[in-house]
Amino acid sequence: MEDIEHIEKQMKLIRADGRRLDGRKPDELRPVRIEAGVLRRADGSAYIEWGGNKVLAAVYGPREAHPRHLQDPARALVQCRYNMAPFSVSDRKRPGPDRRSVEISKVISEAFSAVVFREQFPRTSVDIFIEVLQADAGTRCAGLTAASVALADAGVPMRDLVASCASGKIDGVVCLDLNKEEDNFGDADCPLAIVPRTGEIVLLQMDGHLTLDEFEKAMELSIGATHRLYEMQRDALRRRYSTTLEDILKEPPPLPAPPAPEFEPPPPPPEDDFGPEGI
Ligand code: ADP
Repeated sequence: MEDIEHIEKQMKLIRADGRRLDGRKPDELRPVRIEAGVLRRADGSAYIEWGGNKVLAAVYGPREAHPRHLQDPARALVQCRYNMAPFSVSDRKRPGPDRRSVEISKVISEAFSAVVFREQFPRTSVDIFIEVLQADAGTRCAGLTAASVALADAGVPMRDLVASCASGKIDGVVCLDLNKEEDNFGDADCPLAIVPRTGEIVLLQMDGHLTLDEFEKAMELSIGATHRLYEMQRDALRRRYSTTLEDILKEPPPLPAPPAPEFEPPPPPPEDDFGPEGI
């Protein structure tokens, strides 16, 4: 045990040049790519790659809530199931729900409950499925960011999208968007989700310790990043739904209709067919 603590203390996460082990500056986000509408069977879907994370989100609803005793006569339920695939981490993860996935599912459904116009859909349920295919820390933020795009793709009425990012502390330095090593050997991690248009915070958690100044710095970094992510979310939706003049020009022109066959009068019947008997 002491050995492990010694190794953890020895592990340097910030290089001499001030950069992190993956070459990022403290306020730098990992590369993010978002695609909307990737599944045909779901009402809405999205896929996100965020650093080493690969996460799929699917949305159904609003649809009749089951079991019926869960139905709320005044508003829709927003239910989320966050799941990590057994192959998403280096050691096989035991399939099925565990305490961590139940907690993440709960905080994500609460975050979306704050933005979905639930009163418009009494007795229904909006079901969000988040499948982590590859995990590298920050999967709840990646899942939430993708699920938000999937909800918009499904046409679920919302006040705004929700964008999420974490900040933490490694080697005493407040840094944006920790990766797996930084999360494991760092001092603190603090995921945040906001409604970018209003600035309302819909998720805030903290693992570890930060001073008030460090916390304020972490919030500043995360809020800045969520605005960048918001642009990427909107861009993914625009790409899914907009058809530009360029797209139309890229499409091959419709094939010309085949020429109508020239009318050829049928050959006259042989003379012999005419006559008093033939009529
Ligand atoms: P988040 O993924 O939102 O940062 P955590 O801080 O709980 O949530 O997890 C950090 C990282 O730890 C995950 O992204 C994943 O890479 C790893 N991890 C989580 N649970 C497991 C597990 N059961 N087995 C192996 N690695 C895990």
